[in-house]
Amino acid sequence: MAFELPKLPYAYEALEPHVDARTMEIHHTKHHNGYTNNLNAAIAGTDLENKSIEDILTNLDMKNMAVRNNGGGFLNHALFWEVMSPNGGGTPSGGLAAAINDAYGSFEAFKEKFSSAAGTRFGSGWAWLCVHGGGKVEVCSTPNQDNSLMPNTGCGGHPILGLDVWEHAYYLNYQNRRPDYINAFFNVINWDRVAEFYAANK
Ligand code: MN
Repeated sequence: MAFELPKLPYAYEALEPHVDARTMEIHHTKHHNGYTNNLNAAIAGTDLENKSIEDILTNLDMKNMAVRNNGGGFLNHALFWEVMSPNGGGTPSGGLAAAINDAYGSFEAFKEKFSSAAGTRFGSGWAWLCVHGGGKVEVCSTPNQDNSLMPNTGCGGHPILGLDVWEHAYYLNYQNRRPDYINAFFNVINWDRVAEFYAANK
């Protein structure tokens, strides 16, 4: 039962001009596909083979670099595609909006915190919005393909919104202008989907 590369819920060009079609296609068919294949190779014939990806990452031996990098890459990108939409942008509502306001005071303050986490991550990694049991949300950041499900990353809870700040995610369109890419991301965030992840994992 090997992991399969998830299909995108929209066309490669659907997120333009915020995320360009060429970047989306390479990111999905090369990078995410690579993590998926390498994850399958890393767990083949081991006791991880029939576990869910959440199980594998939650109980991960962090010294197992093949599963850490590729299992993280598999799950992180699967979430990333889901939290973007051509109809995205705007602000969250309902319980998620209340949790963000409780944690940060306002959506604008949250946006600043999240953008700072993404902008100050040195080198490659991710910015996250995570939810803890009970519904409290937290912004954090991890290097490489780590995420908050893994042990002792300094990020806790279940990831419900993730932003890939590896250069492969933006360099073709934005070159070194990561802050412009981070700003553009807010135009495509699918807050309805993030709210579903929030409700399912709080
Ligand atoms: Mn990526």
